[in-house]
Amino acid sequence: MSATRRAEIAGGGIGGLATAAALARKGWQVRVHERGARLRDTGAGIYIYENGMKVLETLGAAEAAIAGCSRATTREMRDGRNRVLSVHRWGASGRVYSVLRQQLIEALAGAATRAGAEIVTGSEAVSATPDGTITFASGATAQADLVVAADGVNSRIRDGLGIPTRKRDMPDGAIRLLIPKTPEEVALGDTGTTVENWQGSRRILVTPVSDTELYIALTMLDSDTSGKATPVDVESWAAAFPHLRPLIERLGPGGRYDRFGHVKLKTWSQGRVAILGDAAHAMPPNLGQGGGTAMMNGLALATHLDGAADIPAALAAWERAERPITEHTQRMSIFFGRPASWPVPIQRGFFNILSKSRKVGELRTRTARHIPTGTA
Ligand SMILES: Cc1cc2nc3c(=O)[nH]c(=O)nc-3n(C[C@H](O)[C@H](O)[C@H](O)COP(=O)(O)OP(=O)(O)OC[C@H]3O[C@@H](n4cnc5c(N)ncnc54)[C@H](O)[C@@H]3O)c2cc1C
Repeated sequence: MSATRRAEIAGGGIGGLATAAALARKGWQVRVHERGARLRDTGAGIYIYENGMKVLETLGAAEAAIAGCSRATTREMRDGRNRVLSVHRWGASGRVYSVLRQQLIEALAGAATRAGAEIVTGSEAVSATPDGTITFASGATAQADLVVAADGVNSRIRDGLGIPTRKRDMPDGAIRLLIPKTPEEVALGDTGTTVENWQGSRRILVTPVSDTELYIALTMLDSDTSGKATPVDVESWAAAFPHLRPLIERLGPGGRYDRFGHVKLKTWSQGRVAILGDAAHAMPPNLGQGGGTAMMNGLALATHLDGAADIPAALAAWERAERPITEHTQRMSIFFGRPASWPVPIQRGFFNILSKSRKVGELRTRTARHIPTGTA
C-alpha cells in the first residue's frame, strides 16, 4: 500500500531530511522542499548521542555523518579559573560524537536520495491544509497523502494551520564557530574530552570536532550585549576567562549568535499535516538533543505510518508514543540551563550535586539511552 503514497516535506534541515530518508525507505514517494539555494546547516558543530546514532544507523547515514569526527568520552565542567567542577564519563549512556553540521546534513541528504527521495532547493512552502495540500511561494500547489512541516522554530506552516502554540524566547543564547586546531592541538590527537567553562552566566564550550577543527560555543544571557556581540568581543570574554585568552584571541571574525527558543504545541498534527523537529518542539541546547529528537521523531513517524490506512489516526498514535520522551528532553534541557542565571555559590552547589547524583545523571541521559522507535 505504501509504494504509491506521496509525502511533501517542507524544510531540508536535520528533521526534514531524516524524515525523508525514513519514509523513502518504507516505499513512500518523497519530495523535500528547502527554501535555501542549497542544503546548509548553520551552527558549526553538533553533538549526536547514542539515540541519534541508532537512528542514523537505521537510515544508512551513520558512517558518512561521523567520518573523521570526534568521539567524546568525557565532559568536564570548569570554572572561570580553570578549576574542575564536575566530570562526566559517557561510558554507560552510550556513544557521543561531535560532528560537523554540514557533514551531518549531507549524510542525511545522501541517505534520503539513495532511498529515492527528491530534494528541491530554492523551494519555499508557504502553507498547508489538513487535506494534504501544500502551497509554495511560487504559487504552485501539490497534493499529498502526507505533508511534513519541518520548517524550523518559526514554522510558517504550523502558524498558518492555527495550531495553538506556546513559543517563547529563552533568556540565553549562543555564538557558535569552528576554528582550526593549532599544530600542537593536531599533534595531541583526539583527547575525547569536551570542556565547558562556566563563569557566572557565561559559558565557553570547547569541543574537538575533527582532526583539524575545534567547535566553540559561547553561551550568555541575551541581555549580555558585549557577550553576544559578533565578531566576539575578545577583551570582554578574556576578562571573564583569563586562562582562555589565547583561545579567545583565535576566534576571529566569524561566529553567529542565536537566541534559544522553546516551542510546545497543543497537537503535533492536523489531518494529513505533521509538524516535526524544532517546528514542534524546539528546546534550548543544554542537552544537545534538539536534532536528536527531530531525527527520532522522523523515523518514528515513518514507522507509525507504515501500512497504516488512516493517516490522521496514525499521526495521533505517533504523537502519543513519542511525545513523552520529547517533552522529558525539553524539560531537562531547560533545567540544565537554569544555573546560568543563579548566583555562583548556588551554581557550584548544583554542579557538585550534578557530579554525584545518580538520579540527576539518569534524568540527564534518559534521552541518550532511549531506544528510538523503528530502530532494532
Ligand atoms: C546553540 C545551539 C546548539 C545546538 N546543539 C545541538 C546539539 O549538540 N545536538 C542536537 O541534537 N541539537 C542541537 N541543537 C538543536 C538543533 O540544531 C535543532 O534542534 C535542529 O537543527 C532542528 O532541526 P529541524 O530540521 O527541525 O529545523 P532546522 O534545523 O531549523 O531546519 C529547518 C529547515 O527548513 C528550511 N525552511 C524554513 N522555512 C521553510 C519554508 N517555508 N519552506 C521550505 N524550507 C524552509 C530552513 O532553511 C532549514 O533548512 C542546537 C541548537 C542551538 C541553537
